[in-house]
Amino acid sequence: MTEAKEMIKVEKLNKSFGDLHVLKDVDLTVFESDVVCLIGASGSGKSTLLRCLNFLEKKDNGTIMIENEEVDLSRNDVNKIRERVGMVFQHFNLFPHKTVLENVIEAPIHVKKMGKREATEEGKALLEKVGLADKANVYPSKLSGGQKQRVAIARALAMKPDIMLFDEPTSALDPELVGEVLTTMKELAKEGMTMVVVTHEMGFAREVADWVVYMNDGKIIEVGHPDELFDQPKEARTKEFLQTTM
Ligand code: ADP
Ligand code: MG
Repeated sequence: MTEAKEMIKVEKLNKSFGDLHVLKDVDLTVFESDVVCLIGASGSGKSTLLRCLNFLEKKDNGTIMIENEEVDLSRNDVNKIRERVGMVFQHFNLFPHKTVLENVIEAPIHVKKMGKREATEEGKALLEKVGLADKANVYPSKLSGGQKQRVAIARALAMKPDIMLFDEPTSALDPELVGEVLTTMKELAKEGMTMVVVTHEMGFAREVADWVVYMNDGKIIEVGHPDELFDQPKEARTKEFLQTTM
């Protein structure tokens, strides 16, 4: 039997902002094709953990392995590894002066040095995949929030990442637009993408997650399959949190 590949392995990760100790000895392993949903109260360190995994924040200590390679921001090849980890934010961060297609092909052309024709072909296919083929030539200001977020997902996928990180991708959306983004994410999960998703959408976590991770005050309190964690949480703090949110 072959063991599943470890896509992310974090050990004893610590991160402080000044005197504020935000991540406290965090251990987390994510296997290939796993969907991990990260839940927890605001301020518990979820975004900081994701940002460390994408090297937007520099860890203080601990190890971060991506696909069995230890990654440290002091290494000069960090950009190569960063390309393997795509990220989607709460606020879509699209370039307002570029069309939808131009947003999607920007990084492949300028970071990956892909030819424009190839990038355009792949970009169009990605827009098709997220259901926005007909919006290729419009500007982001003409899109709904849900459409913008789907463009942001296509843009992240254009770099062909091995791992996708989502930081509350539906939190800024009007309720009626949440579903279309979750549907796109579900499809991605079904295709076998390795995903770490910070979310308050417990229905999504229950349906799609292989593992749910509950964080509180910079620590991972409990990890479980959705049914276990939601229906029979082991830790009192998990129980309390679920009672306040569900
Ligand atoms: P979550 O995403 O779970 O809401 P965050 O990771 O954003 O939590 O934040 C954890 C804590 O770290 C919060 O107290 C937040 O104010 C603080 N924090 C986050 N980023 C910074 C920063 N760049 N500088 C100072 N404090 C920060
Ligand atoms: Mg956050």
